Amino acid sequence: MIFEQLPAGGDRNFCYLIGDAERRLGAVVDPGYDTTALEARVRELGLQVMYVFNTHTHHDHIAGNAVFLRQGAKLAAYKEARVNPEVKLDHGDELFVGRVPIKVLFTPGHYLDAICLLVAGRKLITGDTLFVGCIGGTGFQGSSAEKQFHSLFEILLKLDDAVEVYPGHDYGPTPSSTIGHERRHNPFLQRTNFEDFLWLKAHWEEYKAAHGIP
Ligand SMILES: [Zn+2]
Repeated sequence: MIFEQLPAGGDRNFCYLIGDAERRLGAVVDPGYDTTALEARVRELGLQVMYVFNTHTHHDHIAGNAVFLRQGAKLAAYKEARVNPEVKLDHGDELFVGRVPIKVLFTPGHYLDAICLLVAGRKLITGDTLFVGCIGGTGFQGSSAEKQFHSLFEILLKLDDAVEVYPGHDYGPTPSSTIGHERRHNPFLQRTNFEDFLWLKAHWEEYKAAHGIP
């Protein structure tokens, strides 16, 4: 299986390349403002890109879609996403890139059309729902802290501790993590009470300063 995390420009955005090396089939996730690295890897590996997935439709995660759609890839996003996806995804759907299974988890909160992608049962692309040591903001139109709380605790934290976490931005101390590590160390995931969770969202800058988090 091919699974690569690559820089995508923007605000330390990450995009991802998933593929079946033997069958030369691939999928890209969240092509951003800069698709140079992603395009280079697709070429080097000789992949035909079947799908462009968007974890949500904020501009920094969809800016590079056209590059791959022009080459015949299909756009795959949440069924009600405003990009009008050709492949309309819903919670629990499973797609295949060659023999590599990609399972869709609907995780609204940071944005109303946010999904996470579980690749081969062990690598979770979390978009802006969960970062290493942090979570996505909910101060936008189309955001909901309540839905995010549910998505984090009732969907993502139900996954096995060994599942690896691959976020949409390089905001943490490491570029990737695991569900187990985040469950134990991510300050937001310690707040199992919604009021406490909201308090931390409102006081995150103070909390970071007090705990020496950059
Ligand atoms: Zn976003």
